[in-house]
Amino acid sequence: MTDAAPVRFSYEFFPPRSEPMQNRLWRAIGQLERFGPLFFSMTYGAQGSARQVSIDTALAMHRESPVPIAAHLTCCAAPRGEVDAVARGLYEAGIRRIVALRGDRPEATEPFADEYPSVVDLIASLRRLGDLDISVAAYPEPHPRASSALADLQHLQRKLDAGADRAITQYFFDPDCFLRFRDRAVRLGIDKPIVPGILPVHDLERIKRFSERCGASVPAAYDALFAKVEGRPEAQYRLALELTVELCERLIGEGVDCIHFYTLNQTDMCLDISLALGASLKPAKLTSAA
Ligand code: FAD
Repeated sequence: MTDAAPVRFSYEFFPPRSEPMQNRLWRAIGQLERFGPLFFSMTYGAQGSARQVSIDTALAMHRESPVPIAAHLTCCAAPRGEVDAVARGLYEAGIRRIVALRGDRPEATEPFADEYPSVVDLIASLRRLGDLDISVAAYPEPHPRASSALADLQHLQRKLDAGADRAITQYFFDPDCFLRFRDRAVRLGIDKPIVPGILPVHDLERIKRFSERCGASVPAAYDALFAKVEGRPEAQYRLALELTVELCERLIGEGVDCIHFYTLNQTDMCLDISLALGASLKPAKLTSAA
């Protein structure tokens, strides 16, 4: 990382479901806030009680951390009034960043009659709510629901035109996949930032299973690479670290100046990656968050 173009990081967490997980989350926050991240984000649960945990955790993070908090908010599988009430509650509590999403409908459930028809409508409604910084999701490898790569990109354009400030991508492992996507977006006229979402390979088999559902591809070469370090957790960790740093360095070399990390609430890897990319630690509670 050069002095001229410092790269900024954001870190995504998911809501903790137990006390040990809660402790791990707060430890992660305490360690990563010292990099002065752009923001921490808190994902939103797919249904009922998980949603309340997301909201409560985002609010607690907002109260406790000097880093700005972005609350994820999904609009499918909930009445519009409920989504609006959550957005208003977050806004009134002082949260000024939202990651606006459609989300996934839980299996075997019917839409509510008064759901937001599309995330585009949610974004327009958030814009009317107040001075919010809105991020949306983008898919370098088209979303499984997309009819084509072009339709996917045009949908992203509609989300940005509706008032979103930036797109954060689904994770990917091939830098060229992101770079081609960014080029196609620019050719279509998209001029807002597209921030790469980076997932360190904590557990290859788990990532492969998840990737089948979300349409991301895992390089075939990873099988052989991780097979060589099987049963050696330290070597596995080093390999995952090297692969992720290499991916980020390539992106930074191509002009990327913000990176969003899917932390899976595990700090060590994101801490080591951030340090390897040149982030400097600052005294706790003295971050330079924008
Ligand atoms: P959309 O952008 O509405 O749709 C996804 C794709 O479907 C579009 O790209 C497009 O190809 C197609 N599509 C949808 N509507 C239309 C239309 N009208 N016309 C044409 N094509 C259309 N999930 C959670 O449950 N909680 C989270 O906190 C969460 N955080 C995320 C954060 C990021 C950065 C990313 C990348 C994903 C996240 N997800 C989260 C996953 C996300 O909810 C799923 O990928 C979901 O299936 C799509 O949500 P979306 O907002 O991208 O939807």
